[in-house]
Amino acid sequence: MSVSTAAVDQSICAPLPVLGADVAVPLVTGGEVTYAALDYAASAPALQRVWDDVAAYAPYYGSVHRGAGYLSQLSTDLFESSRVTVAEFLGCREDDQVVFTRSTTDSLNLLAAALPAGCEVFVFETEHHASLLPWRDARVTYLDAPRTPEQAVATLERALAARASSPDSRPRPGEAGTGSPALVCVTGASNVTGELWPVKELAAAARAHGARIVLDAAQLAPHHPVDIAELDVDWVAFSGHKLYAPFGSGVLAGRTDWLRDAEPYLAGGGASRKVARRADGGVDVEWHTTAARHEAGSPNVIGVYSIAAACKALTEAGFDRLVAREQQLVTRVREGLAGVPQVTVLSLFGDDAPRVGVISFVVEGWNSSHFAAALSAEYGIGVRDGLFCAHPLVRTLLGSEPQDPGECGAPEAAPGERSLNAIRVSFGAGT
Ligand code: PLP
Repeated sequence: MSVSTAAVDQSICAPLPVLGADVAVPLVTGGEVTYAALDYAASAPALQRVWDDVAAYAPYYGSVHRGAGYLSQLSTDLFESSRVTVAEFLGCREDDQVVFTRSTTDSLNLLAAALPAGCEVFVFETEHHASLLPWRDARVTYLDAPRTPEQAVATLERALAARASSPDSRPRPGEAGTGSPALVCVTGASNVTGELWPVKELAAAARAHGARIVLDAAQLAPHHPVDIAELDVDWVAFSGHKLYAPFGSGVLAGRTDWLRDAEPYLAGGGASRKVARRADGGVDVEWHTTAARHEAGSPNVIGVYSIAAACKALTEAGFDRLVAREQQLVTRVREGLAGVPQVTVLSLFGDDAPRVGVISFVVEGWNSSHFAAALSAEYGIGVRDGLFCAHPLVRTLLGSEPQDPGECGAPEAAPGERSLNAIRVSFGAGT
């Protein structure tokens, strides 16, 4: 794509280079070019501790759960101790389990594949597509976008109460709660606005109506401590590459029962305890009842180990201190952007809503893709533009139908017109 950057108005971009110097990980190329990566919400740069730990282990890489040799034993130990580290990081309850997956998307699809028969799912239309779409084989109620956290809770309450009064979901005689299972899926922090969702209150509403709740912590976990027991959610899903730990691993942590009772997500070695031919020529399989049931195939030990390294690094650095520093940066960026009249920051819950370091905005008269390309070319600042895999939410925030809902491209906005997609700056203090 050829982009003319000549027309970038310095006053519009002014807050961003300031931000870049302070927040971003500067990547120095050839000793001259500094590039500020402000796209942590897509993938956060790895922590130094993660690089160091992975580099120290990598020469001893071996297969997990599949050998008596030293490398295999070491890899198995590191893989299983990573499970314990992640469970501690998330404040898991005694009976919870940690399943290693490829990503948040993978974790939520795993849970969707493990829903008990007749399970109803409740999800806000504002979710990232990873939490919006996996449930489409179940009976799903899509909840309208709330405009305050209180409205979110009230909307969920109403939907769950309506369910409780429907004949299909009434408890049978002698049963507690409602008859059929239900699951609420909610994000902890929006990948578009950075706004925090009232997870604890939504969990309490789910609980009051006999429903379970899964927290999409893809954007929350890198910015805030997540305590599964304290929030009283049933599952938490997150991705390593957003938690400063690249290499392709994710986590689904929480209750064991639905996962233990479900067919394995993937069939294969590692998930099966015993396999035997039957007299009729078929094959009988006894599956593991632990997390291994859903981890068939050789696991991504480096990815898993890197997540554990990141969890340890964040804990040792003092997560509360990191949160406080990030909040200062959030304030600074928002104040900077507020000083630019052409910029409108997108928000669902309003200016005062608590939020993490994820900020989206539109610039009057600018096509977002061109603006983002200009930021990269002119200032060496990498941001994301587009609809952020949350099309219904961005549609609500822009108050119009975004055109070309592809990941990036958007038609030119005429001078003075609103941008048709948005620009997102995201950062964290975990570096
Ligand atoms: N949920 C949210 C809120 C996200 O922001 C993302 C990714 O941006 C995902 C889920 C999906 O994460 P992944 O692409 O790592 O599966």
